[in-house]
Amino acid sequence: MAQRRMGTSGSSYQQLADSINELIGDRRECPCGRIHETPTRQVLIEAGTIEQLPDVLAKQGLAGAGLLVADDNTYQAAGEKSSQVIRGSGRELDTLIIRPEPGQAEVQATDGPVELVQRQATGADYLLAVGSGTINDICKLAATRLDIPYVSVATAPSMTGYTSGIAAPLTGAIKNTIDARPPVAVVADLNVLSAAPAPMRAAGVGDLVSRSLSSTDWKLAALLRGDYFCPYIATMVDEADRHCRAVAPEIKLGQPQAVAVLTAGLILAGVGMKMAGTSAPGSGGGHLMSHYWDMTAPARHRQRSLHGFQVALGDLICAALYERMWPQIAELDLEEIVAKRMPADDFARETYEHYAPLIGSEPAEEVARFAVAKHAEGEELRRQLELVTADPRAFWTQLAPLFTSSEELKRTLQESGAPLTAAELGISEAELLDGYRFARRFRDRYTVLDLAYDLGLLDELRDEVLATAE
Ligand SMILES: [Zn+2]
Ligand SMILES: [Zn+2]
Repeated sequence: MAQRRMGTSGSSYQQLADSINELIGDRRECPCGRIHETPTRQVLIEAGTIEQLPDVLAKQGLAGAGLLVADDNTYQAAGEKSSQVIRGSGRELDTLIIRPEPGQAEVQATDGPVELVQRQATGADYLLAVGSGTINDICKLAATRLDIPYVSVATAPSMTGYTSGIAAPLTGAIKNTIDARPPVAVVADLNVLSAAPAPMRAAGVGDLVSRSLSSTDWKLAALLRGDYFCPYIATMVDEADRHCRAVAPEIKLGQPQAVAVLTAGLILAGVGMKMAGTSAPGSGGGHLMSHYWDMTAPARHRQRSLHGFQVALGDLICAALYERMWPQIAELDLEEIVAKRMPADDFARETYEHYAPLIGSEPAEEVARFAVAKHAEGEELRRQLELVTADPRAFWTQLAPLFTSSEELKRTLQESGAPLTAAELGISEAELLDGYRFARRFRDRYTVLDLAYDLGLLDELRDEVLATAE
C-alpha cells in the first residue's frame, strides 16, 4: 500500500512538474482570446536545491549584489544556508531580517516592512525572498516598486502566492489584492519544505483544494455576467487540486514525495492566476470570506488564522451552499424575487452600517460602492437570474465538472490535518455569520454567495449551510 502510494505521488509530481515547465517562460496564444505568459522562468522542486542557488542566479543573469530578506524563523529554516551558499560562490549578498512591529506577534505584510526593504535595497540588483506568504508578499511588492527582479526561496508549502501576480497586503482597511510581479525563479528545497510545521502544510492543502470552488465560481460569473473565463487554465488548476487531494494523508506526515506534489500544485496554481491576469481561478467565495475575517480581525481583537485554513473553511461553506441551494431553484418565483429586491440606496446604507464600525467610515463608503455595483435590479436582475432559473439542471451541468462536494473537501482537509470548524480558528458564531452575509460586498467578484443572495436564499439557508462549519 505504502509502495503504491509512493508511486502515485511520484508520477503525480512528475505530471505537475512537466506542466509547470511547459508553462513557464512560454508565451501562449490561447483559444480564450488572451496571451498567457508569466515572468517566472525557473522552478526547482527537489531535495537540496538551495545548493543550486548560484547556478540559478547565473542562469537568471543576476550577477550583482543581492539583498536576502527573511524573518527570524525563515532565516533559521533556509536563510542562513542560502546566504552561505551564495557568498561561498563569491557573490555579494546583504541580509535583512524583518522583525514583528511593536504589539504584533508575527511579521505582517504591511507598508512598514515593504518600505524597509525598499530602503535597504538601494544598490541591490535583486532580492532573495526567504520565507512563505508574508515574506514573499513583502518582497514581491518591494521588488515591483523598485523595478528589480526577485528570487523566492520557499520555506513552507502553505499558499499559492509564490508565483501569483498579486500580493495580498494588509494595507489600509480593505483587504484587496494588488498587482505585483512574481519571482523570476522559485527554489523549493524539499529538505526545508518537508520540515515546515505541519499546520503550514495543512494550510497549503486548504489553499490548493479551494481551487475547485474558485473555478466553479469563476465559471458561474462567466455564465451569468459574461466575465472572462479560460477553460485551459481552469483545467490546469483542477489538475493540481486533484493530485494534491490524492496524497493528503502523506502530506500530513511530511513525506517528501507528497510535499513535492503539494508544492508543485501550489506553484502551478499561482502560475495559473498570473497567466489568467485575474485571481479569479484561485479566489472565489471562500477567499472573500477569508479576506473579510482578516479585515475585521483588529476591530474584533482576534488573531488572524492561516490563510489556507480560513479559505478552506469559507469554501466548505460555499460548497454546502451550492449543494443546498441548487435543488431549490426550480421552486422559486422569479417575479416575486425581482419585486422584493431591496432598493440600491437601502442596500448601500445597510452595507455601510455594517462595515463602518469595523473598518472605519471612509473604507466603508468604498465597500458600499462595490456592493451596489453588483446589485442588479428590475429587468437587469430578471435577465441575469433567468439564465439559471429557466433550467437549473441544465445550468448545473456546466458547473458540475469543476465542482467538489463539501463531503470530499471535508475528507481531504481532515486527512491533511486542517481544522474544519470556525471555533478552531477562533472565529465566533457571529463572525462566521457576518462573513457569510457580508464578505461578498467588498469586492466586485461574483460568487455563489452573490447568486444565493440574488435568489433570496442566502439568509434562508444560513442555518443549515453554516452547520457545515460548526
Ligand atoms: Zn486561456
Ligand atoms: Zn489563497
